[in-house]
Amino acid sequence: MTQTDAVAPTTIPERMRASVLTAPLTLNVEHVPTPPMATDEVLVEVAAVGVCGSDTHYYRHGRIGDFVVESPLILGHELSGRIVAVGEEVPETRIGERVAVEPQKNCRRCRECRAGRYNLCPNMEFYATPPIDGAFAQYCVIRTEFAHRVPDSMSNEAAALLEPLSVAVTTMRKAGVTPGSSILIAGAGPIGIISAQTARAFGAAEIIVTDLVSERRERALRYGATRVIDPREIDVATAGLDVNAFVDASGAPQAVMAGIKAVRPAGTAVLVGLGSSEMTLPVEHIQNLEITVTGIFRYTDTWPAAIHLVASGAVELDSLVTGKFVLEHADEALESDKDPSSLKSVVYPNGIDGDGKS
Ligand SMILES: [Zn+2]
Ligand SMILES: [Zn+2]
Repeated sequence: MTQTDAVAPTTIPERMRASVLTAPLTLNVEHVPTPPMATDEVLVEVAAVGVCGSDTHYYRHGRIGDFVVESPLILGHELSGRIVAVGEEVPETRIGERVAVEPQKNCRRCRECRAGRYNLCPNMEFYATPPIDGAFAQYCVIRTEFAHRVPDSMSNEAAALLEPLSVAVTTMRKAGVTPGSSILIAGAGPIGIISAQTARAFGAAEIIVTDLVSERRERALRYGATRVIDPREIDVATAGLDVNAFVDASGAPQAVMAGIKAVRPAGTAVLVGLGSSEMTLPVEHIQNLEITVTGIFRYTDTWPAAIHLVASGAVELDSLVTGKFVLEHADEALESDKDPSSLKSVVYPNGIDGDGKS
């Protein structure tokens, strides 16, 4: 781990190594120009980058809905690193800070930005979302307020995974989870597992996780689930679960249908999982029980809470890392979801030991 003090000045090379997606299933490590920094931005030497389902989706299919990869794209949006240079408007004292990057740049001017919902900014530039490059690269730039300083006690991996934790924090806020709540989570992948931990940190008393794979159910029990269910054995819709909130982290239509039916009157269902873009909903149940059904789109102002949850030990992210890859093997990192025992793969653009070698 790098200390934030006593940092030697770094010379910034004009070009950097980056893993570039040039066609579906085709990644090449290329020497590309180091991104130019605006006056209100910082340059981050990237340490660790978590692989997300959306990266894998772009890698395999070249698109997610309306977002289409039309020119070469650098993937990766869950990252940590160290500030090595700052724009004119940023105090030089930030150089050397270890940071977690909130990988977005909103316009600050539109209606949604002014309302404090910058995740819904229609002019958003988000990492690794075409045509904006991500962080499978030695360096990246980010506006200074979205480079969040992390404590020295936090690993580079945990700092990178503050991004999916931010998704979970947003989800718990939307789900209205408070001390004593009961929550049902469908899907024990990375978001399901981090959501279970976050629900526990928010004080949920009952955390039920469903998944088809027994290995994944076992894992959920180690990360905060108080009960796990195989939905082929127990019908979630009729089992009398009667939860305050349902979170779908599976994207599976059957799971969404059953999960909403498990919600008690005036409860909430939050659809997080990416799967079918259209599905059938239990409308009568939603109407008669006045259930709020909502989605989430990324996050607004979640890094401070996420940093606190990890620094305080309420959420543990390091053990979620099941694979470590250098830039040349980013393709293997993106394929690792084929192994059910894999949870989070991490790519190290500057070498696994931060030694620049790979
Ligand atoms: Zn992600
Ligand atoms: Zn905006």
